[in-house]
Amino acid sequence: MLIDSHSHVNFDVYRKDFKSVIDHCLVNNTWLINIGSDFKTSSKTIELTRDYGRGVYAVVGLHPIHVVDDVVESVIVDGQKTEVVTPKEEFDYNKYRDLAKSSDKVVGLGEVGLDYFYFNDNDSDSLSKKNLQKEVFKKFIKLSQELNLPLVMHCRGHKDDPYGAYDDMLEILSDTRHHHGVIHCFGGNLNQASKFVNLGFYVGFTGIITFKKKSEDVQEVVRAVPLDKILIETDSPFLTPEPHRGQRNEPYYVKFVAQKVAELKKITFDEVAIITTDNAKNLFSI
Ligand SMILES: [Zn+2]
Repeated sequence: MLIDSHSHVNFDVYRKDFKSVIDHCLVNNTWLINIGSDFKTSSKTIELTRDYGRGVYAVVGLHPIHVVDDVVESVIVDGQKTEVVTPKEEFDYNKYRDLAKSSDKVVGLGEVGLDYFYFNDNDSDSLSKKNLQKEVFKKFIKLSQELNLPLVMHCRGHKDDPYGAYDDMLEILSDTRHHHGVIHCFGGNLNQASKFVNLGFYVGFTGIITFKKKSEDVQEVVRAVPLDKILIETDSPFLTPEPHRGQRNEPYYVKFVAQKVAELKKITFDEVAIITTDNAKNLFSI
């Protein structure tokens, strides 16, 4: 079996067919953990667990991009291009604590962290937004300690400085003794990956590792990180792995990520399946 440790079947793009997407996954012996990105999608992840005994779990949190700005995305729903606006959200500690405690299917907090992708490093507006993201991230670390739930961390740098956000995150994490979680969709460098591992975190890899272009750096990280520290994920509906690039992603495709990890590490698919499943079960206590 496999576990897709990070998917978003709670998002609008699956509004019509989430049931068949989840069933297809379970029938093929693949479990999934749906991740929230704001209060609304976090509540939805819990809702999605209700019809299932085992195999479908929820993680609730506030994504750093929703901490600082309204986000407008154009998504395809039922073949129609639709504009979805996610309003900026002010983080409310108690609200998220209550939500996390509302169901025993909540197995973690996320996705939370830092995202500098849309910032221009030089202006004061960006600096204050970075600080706000850092503050909220620190509060989630505290909540993770309080509830003893692992963190699902998101980190993305500006295109001209892809690694700066990772340094900032590592600095915050080094200042706390609480190291329980995964850095999802890893996009830092090799040195940063080993710092996360040495602190005790898992490292998550998506379909990016299967891409034909610009994936050499992350493939090198896959080779270097010990298998017992790796989680596999799809980040559905984004980052669809080869050979399905261009289509909507789904959790079932996590097998292509597993295949690529096996190929890069020169080990068997079964070994990747067994160990990464164990890793996810350990981290999320499932
Ligand atoms: Zn995600």
